[in-house]
Amino acid sequence: MPKVTGTILELDLVALEHNYNYLRTKIHPTTKFLAVVKAFAYGSDSVLIAKKLEAIGVDYLAVAYAEEGKVLREAGIKTPILVLHAQPYNYPMVIRYCLEPSLYSRRTLQEFIKTSREEKQKAYPVHLKFNTGLNRLGFWKNDIDFIANELEGRGELNIKSIFSHLAASEDRSEEEFSQNQIKSFEKIAKEFTARLKYSPFMHLLNTSGIFNYPEAQFQMVRSGIGLYGYGNEARYDAMLRPVATLKTIISQIHHIAPNESVGYNRAFVSREEKKTATLPLGHADGIGRQYGNGKASVLVHGMASPIIGNVCMDMIMIDVTGIDCKEGDEVIVFGKEYSAENFAAGANTISYELLTGISQRVKRVVKEA
Ligand SMILES: *Cc1c(COP(=O)(O)O)cnc(C)c1O
Repeated sequence: MPKVTGTILELDLVALEHNYNYLRTKIHPTTKFLAVVKAFAYGSDSVLIAKKLEAIGVDYLAVAYAEEGKVLREAGIKTPILVLHAQPYNYPMVIRYCLEPSLYSRRTLQEFIKTSREEKQKAYPVHLKFNTGLNRLGFWKNDIDFIANELEGRGELNIKSIFSHLAASEDRSEEEFSQNQIKSFEKIAKEFTARLKYSPFMHLLNTSGIFNYPEAQFQMVRSGIGLYGYGNEARYDAMLRPVATLKTIISQIHHIAPNESVGYNRAFVSREEKKTATLPLGHADGIGRQYGNGKASVLVHGMASPIIGNVCMDMIMIDVTGIDCKEGDEVIVFGKEYSAENFAAGANTISYELLTGISQRVKRVVKEA
């Protein structure tokens, strides 16, 4: 790799392919695979990642909002794209870019029927989401009659799939709850397909669902975090490879005397002599203030160096006492050598939040094979 000259997010497409192949080993060869690329592909680069996923043969992509799907279509992505949370004002955009909306309520169903009629659509592909316990988005079981009546005798929509989402697929202590979600999803599907008289395909599992409830894979699974290299559990993390590595450099080294402070509000006061390094990376890049004051560490020549004092907008200071390092040296914030899950855990959060929070200011660089 060329020398790092500033803060970069290095993206490893070989790791992405490895993760896809590993996740596929957990499901039947005929089960469809949807890759979730919402939120800039979990904070990486949605076009780059979607192109690679399309090339390696994923069946579906998913984004949260219509604009995210538009960006992929404009980049030439042809794979079907499920839009998990399209807003009704954007339904014309959904249709213009051949995106497939998730409809999850009486309001969204009626709005989408209205838009597709105005746009003279026939058999437009949509997906119906049912709530089975997450209580976030979704029709309720007792909406089935309403849906069937709305669709009766109308040709605008083709219900391609019905789906639901597990609330605690990574949490073994909630196994009974997850099993009940699986059962109620099956019940809903049975009742719904009886009314509809054709069979949409079904999907329920996210990454941890694939690992913990493979018997409920139905005809498709939806994976996000696993593709990016995290499995919400050490034994799956060990099989996956982080796609994104956040790297930076040392801007300046300081030698601090006892009783001197470091950073805003003098949040860190040194008891002894210290060597500190200032890095060009701050909360505006996605390393929030919760990581300051020793909650997270970065790697300098393989040695853990805690963040000291408050995180600034564009900079953090780290303790490199006893580490042989100099200005311009490379620093690993998280990624391959030090997982985002561990970094995030220091501040009581999860890999998802850390990854998706890396701001657009950080340059994305493809790792050379
Ligand atoms: C984000 C999302 C996923 C992906 O979940 P992971 O835990 O990242 O695999 C799957 N399904 C829905 C509905 C989502 O919103």
